[in-house]
Amino acid sequence: MDIYLSAAQEAIDRLGLLNSESDETISKILKNGHGLHPKKLSSDHRKSDPQLSKEEKRSLGLRSNAFMSQSAFAEISQKGLIDAIKAHETTLLRASFTIFRWKSIQSIEETKRIVGDCFAGVRFDANPDACSFCQNLDGTLLENPLDALFPDKSCTCITANYGISVKVDWLLGGSQKDNQYSHDSRPMMRGIFQRIIDRLNFGRNS
Ligand SMILES: [Zn+2]
Repeated sequence: MDIYLSAAQEAIDRLGLLNSESDETISKILKNGHGLHPKKLSSDHRKSDPQLSKEEKRSLGLRSNAFMSQSAFAEISQKGLIDAIKAHETTLLRASFTIFRWKSIQSIEETKRIVGDCFAGVRFDANPDACSFCQNLDGTLLENPLDALFPDKSCTCITANYGISVKVDWLLGGSQKDNQYSHDSRPMMRGIFQRIIDRLNFGRNS
């Protein structure tokens, strides 16, 4: 699976702000995005090619100094024209969260190795502004994290900005006889581990 293309297609299908033919373009923007924020990526994209005329921009309700290339404009659907400046950004944002989740899933095995016996599963993390479907799932453990890669049909979040993260239960490791860390050093090790895990858990609160 090309995660960039799949994430782009999901966001385009679900939001309906861009035409389905723009999936390759959106996928490319994500792939070459170097971690830049979708707001910056979409404005660069709107700037890149020959621009619409001032009259055309005005007829779309855009400021004359707003950037909108002819090619970017051609990608926007009828629905997306309601807020043309946001159409690419919102689509890129939704797709980016899918990619963040994909990266989190990719790092599960590595995190598992680091935390050993303290691994307590993989959890669903909803943001406070999420829809009720996501709120209900917040903190629950996922049997198969891949099932949560793409937003569920019942989720009504626009950007579906929920995350997937490894849950660590330090008490699980504490009961092991062969625990390699003494009781006294455990709080310190816990701090170090937690910082590593925080780094591995991509895409949360971003
Ligand atoms: Zn949701």
